[in-house]
Amino acid sequence: MRITSIEIIETCIPLPHPYKLSRRYGFLRDTKPVIVKINTDEGLCGYGETDPMGKFTGETPETVAAVLKEDLVPAIIGEDPTNVLMINQILESMVRDNHMAKGAIDMACHDLLGKAAGMPLYRVLGGALYEDIPIMGSIGGGTIEETVAAAEKVRNSKYHSIMVKVGGDPVHDGNRVLAVRDALGKDYPIIVDANQGYDMAAAMKFIGIAKEADPVLFEQPIDAENIEGIAAIRQKCGVPVSVDESILSYRHAQEVIRLGAADVFSIKVCKNGGVRNSLQIIELARSKGIDILFNSMIEEGITQAASLNIALTVSNLYEYGHAYFSPLRLDADITNYCSNIVDGRVKAPEGPGLGVEILDDVLDRYVSRRVTIEK
Ligand SMILES: [Mg+2]
Repeated sequence: MRITSIEIIETCIPLPHPYKLSRRYGFLRDTKPVIVKINTDEGLCGYGETDPMGKFTGETPETVAAVLKEDLVPAIIGEDPTNVLMINQILESMVRDNHMAKGAIDMACHDLLGKAAGMPLYRVLGGALYEDIPIMGSIGGGTIEETVAAAEKVRNSKYHSIMVKVGGDPVHDGNRVLAVRDALGKDYPIIVDANQGYDMAAAMKFIGIAKEADPVLFEQPIDAENIEGIAAIRQKCGVPVSVDESILSYRHAQEVIRLGAADVFSIKVCKNGGVRNSLQIIELARSKGIDILFNSMIEEGITQAASLNIALTVSNLYEYGHAYFSPLRLDADITNYCSNIVDGRVKAPEGPGLGVEILDDVLDRYVSRRVTIEK
């Protein structure tokens, strides 16, 4: 099988309601997935997606599209996309870092690998350890009343845990988490995520209040680069800590492990550079006793399906649920991914490759630019 052409499809998909994150990120009003469609001489095509957010991931939709167009895509036209090791080697040789741009191609090649084998990707990766995965809902910032209303919606959706976004005023955030505990009862797992919004003092002040609500996890309390600081918080705060923004690559994961800064890694298949790089980080974590929370950017069904195919194969899966409802918070899903969500869980997809179909008529409504590169 050979790659004949690759389409780079830039999109902009609104959120029906603005999503308030930490003070560092502010409000999200839309997401801009970049889709890669690989066409082949055998008639099969593979899809990849990446969901950049400059303040979070370093890369932006514009840098991803430029690096794909100028550097990565021209280097792999004519190659065999099912030889994903060779494809990754070529991508690595073309440009340093740029994990998200490379990851979109890696994802599309894994889609083709599964389609060529006539199997779902998780079977190509060795099989599934689970029939389905419990979903973690998440809610943005707001008043106490808004927070409680959003939390009740998560529970009513039958999700198995909730991620409460904090990282603003530490006292208000602490009180919001206490109100969520009151509303959801004593056994509902609560994860808090500060998205780098605190400094050390604010993080400790927040968790000092929120601890009464017995959160099961405290994600990314402070700046992504301050791994020593996160390790110190983990030592002192009495709540398990996860890192998200701090781990984009394998090298970051090694550093977090060396400094003892995390109990859990938040893996996002696009943030972590595609299927292969994610699997390598996950295996490193497993060998060190670190669990994996499958988390998501504001992403569509292609990225979610890639993430799900990986999660089904992972033994060190975090126990309280995973972020597999992302397209439901958007104006539309450009795929049929959400049909896999039933009663607060997401089922293993049955179709070959990533196991989702692209809804071209829906996709067309959100395309801002489309470029096709051929030999
Ligand atoms: Mg996070």
